[in-house]
Amino acid sequence: MNAPLSSDFVNGDVSFWFRSLGIPAPGAPLDGDREADVAIVGGGYTGLWTAYYLKKADPSLRVAVLEKEFAGFGASGRNGGWLTGALAGSPERYARTHGRDATQRLQREMFAAIDEVIAVCADEGIDADIVKGGLFNVARGPAQEARLREELAAQREWGWTEEDVRLLSPAEMDERLRVSGAAGATWSPHCARIQPAKLARGLAETVRGLGVELYEGTPVTAIAPGRAVTPYGTVRAAHVLRCTEGFTATVPGHHRDWLPMNSSLIVTEPLGAEVWETIGWERRELLGDMAHYYMYAQRTADDRIAFGGRGRPYLYGSRVDDRGHTHDWTVDALWNLLTSFFPAVASSRVAHAWSGVLGVPRDWCATVGLDRASGIGWAGGYTGHGVTTTNLAGRTLRDLVLGRETPLTGLPWVDRRVRAWEPEPLRWLGVHSMYRLYRIADAREAKGMTRTSVLARVADRITGH
Ligand SMILES: Cc1cc2nc3c(=O)[nH]c(=O)nc-3n(C[C@H](O)[C@H](O)[C@H](O)COP(=O)(O)OP(=O)(O)OC[C@H]3O[C@@H](n4cnc5c(N)ncnc54)[C@H](O)[C@@H]3O)c2cc1C
Repeated sequence: MNAPLSSDFVNGDVSFWFRSLGIPAPGAPLDGDREADVAIVGGGYTGLWTAYYLKKADPSLRVAVLEKEFAGFGASGRNGGWLTGALAGSPERYARTHGRDATQRLQREMFAAIDEVIAVCADEGIDADIVKGGLFNVARGPAQEARLREELAAQREWGWTEEDVRLLSPAEMDERLRVSGAAGATWSPHCARIQPAKLARGLAETVRGLGVELYEGTPVTAIAPGRAVTPYGTVRAAHVLRCTEGFTATVPGHHRDWLPMNSSLIVTEPLGAEVWETIGWERRELLGDMAHYYMYAQRTADDRIAFGGRGRPYLYGSRVDDRGHTHDWTVDALWNLLTSFFPAVASSRVAHAWSGVLGVPRDWCATVGLDRASGIGWAGGYTGHGVTTTNLAGRTLRDLVLGRETPLTGLPWVDRRVRAWEPEPLRWLGVHSMYRLYRIADAREAKGMTRTSVLARVADRITGH
């Protein structure tokens, strides 16, 4: 069915999150050559958190952030608003190089980073609609339920206790959130809802207040040791940090580092009390499912549902559609999935649809690092789990830049180097085959399969997911 659109429906234009604040006009660009101690390329959460922690650690540091549009323009102003403790990548892979203990430490740092973000927001007066209600992972159908239990068993092996995640009884689930066709669910306290653009805007204002020079409308055309080059001048700095995540493929010399993966969201109109009575969701938990082509959702502060999933996951040649226009097919697919979760929502309409890009390294694990010889640093490849990870990245980059050896600089994702993605057309074929197989696997499982479809396992193998 085609999604019903509200009369003021907007497609793209960055995101609903920014539309509700007013799309900012970019601030002043760089106006000539400058000297700094640290030049940060990209004004998303990674760049802003890094600037924040550097200035807090040493107020005398000259920190310049160079942003091609405006702070929060990328995934940071468009995401699903899950401030989640989930690891950006598989624990087994991190453990391969650094062992189990270090990987478990990384997981604990992720949990703690949620509270760190909440504490900084409180200290700095950033109101980002944060509610720490935790996360529901819901299984619809027997195959998803089997996977949910497998995931829970794996989490237990990695040290997640009953306090970190637990199975919900059907009665408990029904009391809190009524998802049609739910066969089982887990709940974890390690997740908070945020309004993404409010966090990005608040961080940008905070770092400006700390004396960070934030240049907007300033695209960096080359990153080299000791300098970041823009059409308006060059910033010379001992450290240059690449914080461009999903856009990294557009930075010269980095075309095949991280695959720009698309993700799309729709948001409904505000829903009435009668709809909420049917659904529940009073504690504003985040909601995800166990499908291969998974969804993610939140109840917004103004009582809408924001509901996301992969649309067209990848554009040939690692192109990035940067203002977020979303294909009709994706809007319809998200709407149909949303109303299958919550039939009562069918009386509403879609108010906004948008998309964004996130960065996926070849081994699907995040990385943060600094090359001492060149002074060039980076963080990203969060594979869709960047909202919390960017905070940990910011603190880790601070320690690396300041030359401190700390518990953070010893974590397994630090200085992780992975091979590049394949050249086209192999890259496109690989990613498209993977998602096609996921879609077929989900459809087969929905017909009542009791185990994970073998097609999904083949799909995982194709791209090393
Ligand atoms: C639709 C969507 C939903 C998501 N949902 C979630 C979620 O719910 N939870 C979660 O944990 N993660 C989620 N993610 C991932 C998360 O949003 C990102 O991992 C995170 O925001 C990355 O932050 P960043 O600062 O590294 O990158 P970005 O926010 O993308 O920032 C990079 C910035 O660099 C700028 N830039 C790019 N090129 C240049 C250049 N040449 N010169 C200067 N500036 C440049 C861009 O304009 C941009 O502002 C989602 C991502 C998307 C796209």
